[in-house]
Amino acid sequence: MKGLVIDMEDCIFCKIAGGIIPSASVYEDDDFKAILDIAPAAKGHVLILPKKHCADLIEIDPDVASKALFVASKIAAAQKKALKADGINLLQNSGEAAGQTIFHFHMHLIPRYENDNLTIPGENLSYAEGEAEEYAAKIRSCI
Ligand code: AMP
Ligand code: ZN
Repeated sequence: MKGLVIDMEDCIFCKIAGGIIPSASVYEDDDFKAILDIAPAAKGHVLILPKKHCADLIEIDPDVASKALFVASKIAAAQKKALKADGINLLQNSGEAAGQTIFHFHMHLIPRYENDNLTIPGENLSYAEGEAEEYAAKIRSCI
């Protein structure tokens, strides 16, 4: 698998980033994989995962951190275009007290719409069968 370094055999995001566990992928390069969140705050909610395991914003390698923002910018632009979003929330939770539940660094990109009345964190949505892949394909086509 290109670029993957597995430091934690039990880490679900290491397995997703390495393609061992399937996901609705929207973007991949040597250092990152971006996927749809399985329980999105809004349809098209993306998670950006570095392939090299690190727990959080405190542990992250500075080079990976700066590249992550570049990837986030590209995907946010694609979400706006593909999903006709009016805005995007970029969210990163570090530590249990901050709401982190998976201890492999990741950034959330959440599509927002005028008057969507979304609260974050709030209620999670789910995808119907095949719907996540449709959303992922739409976003991929705009990157
Ligand atoms: P956080 O609370 O910031 O650690 O975010 C973890 C996110 O991972 C949550 O929004 C979950 O819905 C999401 N998640 C958990 N398992 C999966 C999975 N298998 N595929 C995609 N997203 C997942
Ligand atoms: Zn990991």
